[in-house]
Amino acid sequence: MAILVTGGAGYIGSHTVVELLTAGYEVIVLDNFSNSSPMSLKRVSEITGREFKIYNVSILDRNGLEKVFSENSIHAVIHFAGFKAVGESVEAPLKYYQNNISGTILLCEMMQKYEVKRLVFSSSATVYGVPKVVPISEDSPLSATNPYGRTKLMIEEILEDLFRSDNRWSISILRYFNPIGAHDSGKIGEDPSGIPNNLVPYITKVAVGKLRELKIFGADYPTKDGTGVRDYIHVVDLAMGHLKALEKNFASTGVSTYNLGTGKGYSVLEIVKTFEKMCGEKIPYTITERRPGDVAVCFSDPSKAKKELNWSAKKEIEEMCADSWRWQAKNQEGYDEEENTILAGTGNLRLIQNNGDFLY
Ligand code: NAD
Ligand code: UDP
Repeated sequence: MAILVTGGAGYIGSHTVVELLTAGYEVIVLDNFSNSSPMSLKRVSEITGREFKIYNVSILDRNGLEKVFSENSIHAVIHFAGFKAVGESVEAPLKYYQNNISGTILLCEMMQKYEVKRLVFSSSATVYGVPKVVPISEDSPLSATNPYGRTKLMIEEILEDLFRSDNRWSISILRYFNPIGAHDSGKIGEDPSGIPNNLVPYITKVAVGKLRELKIFGADYPTKDGTGVRDYIHVVDLAMGHLKALEKNFASTGVSTYNLGTGKGYSVLEIVKTFEKMCGEKIPYTITERRPGDVAVCFSDPSKAKKELNWSAKKEIEEMCADSWRWQAKNQEGYDEEENTILAGTGNLRLIQNNGDFLY
């Protein structure tokens, strides 16, 4: 079975490609590297001992998509490609609507043309807006508080319409909670550009001395210690959820939506303490104002995925923190360090440019 993975060089995509290859799938990655490095895919190859095709193509590039679909016999698509920074989406909403929504439409058009009707889509717990009740189940009210969230909501609706128009489609919508952690080899992990917006990448940068101290956004929430509570999930557990969703897509048609979370909530201070324990370093922090738009508590009811996909998250918070730390400690500059080596052509991967040339 050949699976096209859009955004496969990114954080969640690269971990999912590892699990797909390990499970014996053939993988084709499509990514324009707008928020990732080809190095992540070289590392995926090292971890798995497998080679795979990589296309440097945007989902906004119709001709590029046509090339990918015409050159490969694709059985299903896992669609990660998109922009994901909430703050940037408020500053530049059209960029987000264009990339995430127009890109998904073009991808689905190409899938329709080539009769590829199995899709796993990366959605987000952000579609629950400000949750009234926790744990959050899939039938909770939906809303968006920013353009990024609105792209996810709109795409979910577009996919529902697509199925209504042609009931041969089989679509899984996966709503992720807070992915953290990294592959236990320490070879791949989250590599945000600039100063991280998210909690754990920020903590890892403090732990290796790249940032001075963590700012905790508010300690006056109605939670156990006053800091925000979230449902952190190990990225490898999350990746496994995609394989389970894929199996379901091969077995039946329809649109199904699943929460991928652990069902447990941890506060910011609990994450800091656990991280300190796992890395043996002190994480200096100060308490600052609440971050606008943040909710006090957000965690999932993951029982639907357990029942229908036979999937549940296995890894505990200690392992999540230890793996995030290992990745950061081994790759203090992220993937950039080895960029030149890979572009010089030492790898055995083949990165195919849109014009057909090999990048390396
Ligand atoms: P990421 O930025 O690491 O990965 C996204 C990948 O898509 C990157 O490699 C990027 O280069 C690529 N990409 C972006 N636009 C593209 C385009 N037009 N054409 C081709 N490739 C393109 O992000 P991630 O954390 O791995 O997230 C993957 C998906 O999961 C995204 O859709 C994101 O919105 C969603 N998601 C992420 C989180 C999270 O906390 N990480 C939570 C919920 C949902
Ligand atoms: N957070 C924090 N300092 C940071 C980044 C995040 O205190 O530098 C808090 C944030 O207020 C929230 C939690 O950590 O309570 C998780 O935030 P993150 O941005 O990682 O995820 P999301 O807001 O998307 O749930």
